[in-house]
Amino acid sequence: MTLLQSEVVPKNSGKAFIVKKGQRLRVAGRTVVDFVAFNLHNLRERFDQARTKTNQVKIFISTGDQLVSKLNNPLLTIVEDTFKEGKHDLQKGMCSKKRFELVAKGAAKRVFAEGVDMNPQKPEDIPDHGCLENLTEALKSWDIPPEDIPSPFNIFQTMRIDPETGAMFDTMIRPKDEAHVDLRAEMDCLVAVSACPQSGRGEAIRVEIFEA
Ligand SMILES: [Zn+2]
Repeated sequence: MTLLQSEVVPKNSGKAFIVKKGQRLRVAGRTVVDFVAFNLHNLRERFDQARTKTNQVKIFISTGDQLVSKLNNPLLTIVEDTFKEGKHDLQKGMCSKKRFELVAKGAAKRVFAEGVDMNPQKPEDIPDHGCLENLTEALKSWDIPPEDIPSPFNIFQTMRIDPETGAMFDTMIRPKDEAHVDLRAEMDCLVAVSACPQSGRGEAIRVEIFEA
């Protein structure tokens, strides 16, 4: 594989990339990454969490599984996944200034599986931006407004799902050492990543593009 591009995306920031059909995109890090994708030639055709889950009849995806678009076409296929401690998430949306405010006010919920509470309690603890703002900024030059950014594929975000109630619990399970997910583009794609702030615990990530 020939490395074409390698970029560090600082914590709580976002960046967009073009990945041509057949190229391999690597997302590497130890922190949650909110990942979205679009058909480069029809930006209204975007990633769809529901079709991705329905077509593969599961809520956790890994090597061999596909990210599916709103028009039910494969955008990308996961060809390598070195995250073994946990799973990636297809249930949650993404954090944002508004979501942090809603949680702080008690108007929206966020619970943790391990008894920790990372939710900001005081107004001054609320981050002034999160993944929605990061992805909005990254996709601004493509004229994609926040309303048109799909719910993401949350890489390295392990959720605990109660099989009876469906309750979703955040966990702090992350890669112990740097892990990566490699995705092969099944069409020319515009993708965008956000290095999630994780309520102040976020880290930088690295994104690389390879010619196969
Ligand atoms: Zn986030």
